[in-house]
Amino acid sequence: MSLADVQEPKNSSGSLTSPENRLTAPMNTSFILSPSRQFSYEDGPVPSLPTPRYVRVRIVATGLCGSDVRIARCGLHPITLGHESAGIVDACGSDVKGLSVGDRVALEPGVGCNTCETCRSGRYNLCESMQFAATPPYNGTLSTFYCLPEECCYKLPSHISFREGALVEPLSIAVHCCGLAGSLQGRSVAVFGAGPIGLLCCAVAQAFGAAKVVVIDAVAPRLSFATDFGADDVYMMEAGFPETNAQKVLEKAGLDAGFDVVIDATGAEPCINCGVAALKRGGVFVQAGLGSPNIAFPIGQICDKEATLKGSFRYGPGDYKLAIQLLESNRIQLDSLITHEFAFSNAEQAFQNVADRVGIKSLIFGPGIDRAFAEGRTEQHTRVSDLPRL
Ligand SMILES: [Zn+2]
Ligand SMILES: [Zn+2]
Repeated sequence: MSLADVQEPKNSSGSLTSPENRLTAPMNTSFILSPSRQFSYEDGPVPSLPTPRYVRVRIVATGLCGSDVRIARCGLHPITLGHESAGIVDACGSDVKGLSVGDRVALEPGVGCNTCETCRSGRYNLCESMQFAATPPYNGTLSTFYCLPEECCYKLPSHISFREGALVEPLSIAVHCCGLAGSLQGRSVAVFGAGPIGLLCCAVAQAFGAAKVVVIDAVAPRLSFATDFGADDVYMMEAGFPETNAQKVLEKAGLDAGFDVVIDATGAEPCINCGVAALKRGGVFVQAGLGSPNIAFPIGQICDKEATLKGSFRYGPGDYKLAIQLLESNRIQLDSLITHEFAFSNAEQAFQNVADRVGIKSLIFGPGIDRAFAEGRTEQHTRVSDLPRL
C-alpha cells in the first residue's frame, strides 16, 4: 500500500482538500447528529489527552449498529455518533506502559468510574457513571481522533484487519451474552435474530463448545446468511402461537426436551415468547436484544420450568480479551459479516442502511481513510507514516 492508494480527507462541504494547500493545523472532523436530527460534519481541534494514562487513536474503521440508529432517532443535543471502532495509536500519555504510537487497536468505547460499588465489584459495565461513546452527553468515535485510557485499547492480532477490528465491539457483546449462559459445552442453543449480534452469538456459542446452535429469524435472506455463516440449523418464524413455532423449531432441530440455552437478540415479543416456550426445563434464557422496553412476557413458564432469566448489558471484564483471543486463534471469522462499506463523506448513507436493515454490517472508514488502508493487517503495511496527512 502506498500513500497514492489513500484518499485525501474531504472537508465538510465534501470537496477534496489537498494537504499541500491546507495551511491550518490538522483538524478533528466529526460526524454529528443535531437536535433537529440533521447529520453534519464538523471540524474541531485535534483532542489532547485528558490524563497521562490516555492514548489518542486515529480512527480507521467504524461499524454501525441498531443502537446508533436509536440515538439518531432520539437525539436531544448535538453528538458525534459511532462506538464500534478500530484504529492506530497516534499519541500516548506519559504514564502509558503497554501501547506505543503505531499500534493497531480495537477500542472498548466505555470508561467506568472505577470507584463506585459496581466498578469495584468487577461489573464495570453496570457503572452508573459510565462514559460510553455516542451515549448522550458523550461523543462517539466517528471522528478523525478519539481518546481513551490505554486499558480500553486492545492490540489487534497481526492477521486481523482494521475492518474486522471494528467488529470486536459487537463480538464482545456476544462473548458477554454467551458467558452469562454458563458452560455451553455440549449444550443446545437457540439464537433468535440473524443480525450481527445473533450471528456473533451463534459463532461464539459454537466456539464455546455448543453441540448445536439453531438460528431463528423471520427474514429468509438473513437465515440463508446464517447458514452460510455456519449455523447448525435455521428456522423461519411463522405467524401464529409461540408454542406452535416452538414445537416446530424443536422438531426441526430434533430436540424433544427443549433448548438448554436460548439467546434472544431481537427484543421482539413473538421471538421472546417462542424462545421461552422452546426452553428446556431448568434452562437459561439470555436477553441480548433491546426492543420495546415493555412486552407481554410468559413469566409463568419461567417459574414452571424453574428457568434462569438473564439480562445482558454490553460487556465486562475479560470480554474484549476473550473476543481478541477468539480472533487470534481463528475460531471466529468476522470478514463475511461486513456487507457494506462507506467513505466518511457518505456516513449518512450507512445510517440509512442500518435503519432499513440492509445487509448485515455497514462500516464507515475514518476521515481520509479508504478501504485499502482499512484492509491493512501487519504493522509493516500500516505505519503511522502511511496515514494520509490531514
Ligand atoms: Zn453497537
Ligand atoms: Zn463506576
